[in-house]
Amino acid sequence: MTMDEIRPQLLVVDDELGMREGIRRIFTLEGYEVTVAENGTEGVARGTEREFDVALIDLRMPDLDGLTVLRRLKEKWPDTEYMMITAFAGIDTAVEATRHGAYTYIPKPFTPDQIVFEVNRALGKRRLTVETRELRAEQEHRLLEISQEKSRLRTIINSVSDALFVTNLEDEIVLANPQTRALFDFPSNIKAGDKISDILPVEVIELIHEAQQKTREGIELVTHEWEMRKNLELVVNMKTAPVKDASGSILGFVTTIQDVTQLKRLDAQKSQFVSMVAHELKAPVAAVSGYLETMHGRFLGEEIGQYGKMIDRSLERLQSLIDLVNDLLNISRRELGTTRREIVAVAVPDVVENTRELLQGEMEKRGIAFSAEYEDALPTIDVDRDEFTRVITNLLSNAIKYNRDNGAIAVRARHENGSLHIAVSDRGIGMKKEDQELLFRQFYRIKNDETRSIPGTGLGLSIIKQIVDSYRGNISVESQSGEGSTFTVRLPVKFAEQA
Ligand code: ADP
Repeated sequence: MTMDEIRPQLLVVDDELGMREGIRRIFTLEGYEVTVAENGTEGVARGTEREFDVALIDLRMPDLDGLTVLRRLKEKWPDTEYMMITAFAGIDTAVEATRHGAYTYIPKPFTPDQIVFEVNRALGKRRLTVETRELRAEQEHRLLEISQEKSRLRTIINSVSDALFVTNLEDEIVLANPQTRALFDFPSNIKAGDKISDILPVEVIELIHEAQQKTREGIELVTHEWEMRKNLELVVNMKTAPVKDASGSILGFVTTIQDVTQLKRLDAQKSQFVSMVAHELKAPVAAVSGYLETMHGRFLGEEIGQYGKMIDRSLERLQSLIDLVNDLLNISRRELGTTRREIVAVAVPDVVENTRELLQGEMEKRGIAFSAEYEDALPTIDVDRDEFTRVITNLLSNAIKYNRDNGAIAVRARHENGSLHIAVSDRGIGMKKEDQELLFRQFYRIKNDETRSIPGTGLGLSIIKQIVDSYRGNISVESQSGEGSTFTVRLPVKFAEQA
């Protein structure tokens, strides 16, 4: 409720009945609500129980004098306006009362008009005081709100992962989050008012200036990708937009800088992958096409038997093409996450033996001896059987492919710290140290005289590494050129999917 809606409250403390009642009458007619007290003690009681707008206090009363009443009430309600009523003889005391906080005094005798005038004046002053007080409280509240708003805004800006800063029309920094400082490696904190030309790289400044230009043409956002550090070390995406006030005038510009390095690297990897695939597909297709042209032109005569070698080669090349396509499909399914796995307890010796049986023919063809050694009480592992079979098949078929005639293959499996270690060793061609590091990359094949005639896609090891990684396992190789290689896979016994 505001003061206008309620009646002004007047307290009259006077021991003189006539005076008391006279004043009550006058002010009731004036629209006041009047409370009277017939002596000082009662005045203090009435006056302290609630706040009055104006209090009229007689200076001279038999029990408590007016000055004491004033002091008590003033202590409780400092904003009430106090007026002393005094006989002419008490003027000095009345003056003293004003020093103790009375608004004024009014000497007896007075006319109703006089007292109405004085009290109304006091009421006006009181209203002003209350308004000022409310205004001040309101301002303090607003200030508090603004400061809370500011700190909230700062918290939000600081927690944005991108670099974000605001510049004004004079090209000065108004605001910058810590990410901005980190990105540009500022030696000290950016201060509001710093010129962007002194602290930001020219690429960023140009973007902001371009945004200033474009905004005039009605374009609201300019973006620019910038390789901050060469060779895909750091690529950022910068966006600048105008900051406007409620009326639409531009106050400055907000720029955000997002690190898009990972995305760019992925993009580059994908393009590289596509170009490698195209390259790998091209060679067998070109070879088969060459053979077919020879046959089509009957270059070796009309007899089909004369083309036997070409047909064999074509079938071989086509088979390697099918293998490649299958590997590629496998990779893409895995990357798209569309492979379904069924985790079961798998006994390693089972899978090794089954695979060996399948590859037995090839081993016999080349006179390769096979041996396997399994630690006693070897635990089963939680894996998808097909995936694990793929790992073992790949390692065994490589051990055959890159072996020597009449060579040997040994498989050993043992248990250590909750993991199974499965090692596949061969006494084949082996490989140099520098090749060992690159082996698990897609399409990586070691190229030398010994490997030239061995068919392959260069994808097998990268696929099995992907599988093993997905079980939180790992794969490693130890090898010596000309001596042979050992590939060791370590897989946790209990299934724990990759985070
Ligand atoms: P692929 O055998 O189809 O070429 P992989 O990814 O299985 O593809 O192997 C990549 C390369 O690693 C092979 O081309 C080969 O040069 C080398 N490599 C793999 N296994 C062996 C091994 N047991 N001995 C020697 N080299 C190997």
